[in-house]
Amino acid sequence: MAQHHTDLPRLDQLTVACAHPDDESFGLGAVIAAFTEVGTQVDLVCLTRGENSTLRAGGDLGEQRARELGCAAQALGISTVSLLHHPDGGLDEVDLHRLIADIGAAAEGSQALLTYDHGGITGHPDHQRVTQAAIGAGRTLAIPVLAWALTSQVASALRDRFAVPFLGRDEDELDVTLAVDRTRQLAAIACHGSQLEGNPIPHARIELQGAEEHLRTLYRPDPSENPASSNESA
Ligand SMILES: [Zn+2]
Repeated sequence: MAQHHTDLPRLDQLTVACAHPDDESFGLGAVIAAFTEVGTQVDLVCLTRGENSTLRAGGDLGEQRARELGCAAQALGISTVSLLHHPDGGLDEVDLHRLIADIGAAAEGSQALLTYDHGGITGHPDHQRVTQAAIGAGRTLAIPVLAWALTSQVASALRDRFAVPFLGRDEDELDVTLAVDRTRQLAAIACHGSQLEGNPIPHARIELQGAEEHLRTLYRPDPSENPASSNESA
C-alpha cells in the first residue's frame, strides 16, 4: 500500500494548468486555496476561453468566461492568470509541443505544476491533453507534476448519477490526502454563473468529497539527471 501523506507539499511557487475557465474552481478550487492560504504563490495558465461550452454556447461567451475566471482567481487567491486562445474542444488538434511550450512559459520559476489526473477526471479530451502537455512541461523544466484526483468511490457515485465518465483512483494510487476548507472554492464557483445554470455536478461532487481532496504525483524529476542537486564532497 502506498504511503499516505496528509501534509500539503511545501512550495513557494506553483503553476496550475487547466483547459477551461471554471476547471480551476469546480475541480481544483479547494486544492488551490489550500496552497494560497499557506502563502504559496499560485499562477494559473488556462489554455482556452471556454467559448464552446455546451452550457450556453454562443454570443460573447468567451469574453464572459474570461471575466468569470478573473473573479474566481481573486476568490482563490491566485496571483496571475494566463488565459490563452487555443480552441475550446480542440486541444487535441493543437501541436503538443506548442502546448508544452505555453505551459512551460507560464511555469517558469515555479517549483511544481498542478493539473488533472490522467483521464482528465471527467474524461474530457481537452483535460487529458492538458495533463499530457503539463507532464511534458514538467520534464522540460525538471519540476514535479502533481495532479488533482478523485477517489474511486466518488467517481463511481458520480458516474451512477450523471452521464459523465468520471475516473477515480484506488487508495494505493493516491499520494496525498488533504483536509480542505471549501469556503474559497465555493466563492470561486459562484463566479462562474454562465456554467452553473442547470449544472448540478460541481456541488454534487463537493458533497460527495466532503472535506477531503487527493493528489497524485504524475512526474518527478530524476535527481541523478540534475547535477545542481548532487551532493558536494568536501
Ligand atoms: Zn474543463
